[in-house]
Amino acid sequence: MLRVLKHPLGDHIITHLRDKTTKPATFRSLAYQLTLMLAIDATHDLHTEEKAIETPLEPMKGRVLAHQPIVVVAILRAGVSMVQPFMDIFPDVSVGYVGLERDHVTAVARNYYCKLPPLEGRRVFVVDPMLATGGSAAQAIEVVKHHGAVAPRLVCIIAAPEGVAEVARRHPDASVHVGVLDRTLNEKRYILPGLGDFGDRLYGT
Ligand code: URA
Repeated sequence: MLRVLKHPLGDHIITHLRDKTTKPATFRSLAYQLTLMLAIDATHDLHTEEKAIETPLEPMKGRVLAHQPIVVVAILRAGVSMVQPFMDIFPDVSVGYVGLERDHVTAVARNYYCKLPPLEGRRVFVVDPMLATGGSAAQAIEVVKHHGAVAPRLVCIIAAPEGVAEVARRHPDASVHVGVLDRTLNEKRYILPGLGDFGDRLYGT
């Protein structure tokens, strides 16, 4: 299942992220804001439960989040930039990291780093800003499923159709939440129109 963010503020932020004149400090702040919107959108179906409270005027029954542990798993390196917004809105979130490296001979992504909290019975969100070929994302989803995640969600800022198709092919049970769906990949596997290398734009490398 693919869910694309629909909000005028999202369009506004993504356009400024794409703009090559946007400097790293502004880029980081925009990436934070957009991830916050994505984190809210990707958790639209969290369960709530009734809670009796008193406002300054009268008693009432409100709703609060039911106990439902959330885990965010960042794909190194650029995915790290998407962790803080999740932590800011879900203070009890646990965080994991997966590092993947493409083997130049086999072209298969190798898992060189993996540090995960318990995943069984938790809502798991894998985060990586750019979904290009889908190879790393599909591999990271495989890793979290291997550690007990059920129907994990992938959250990205920009996706190419090729990446969405690859994740759907390898993980029909995983849903993909993106800020925008772009046109295609170029011969160097960059997303078009895209925003260039997200990590470079973020860290000024
Ligand atoms: N990763 C990026 O940072 N940018 C792309 O366009 C594709 C993958």
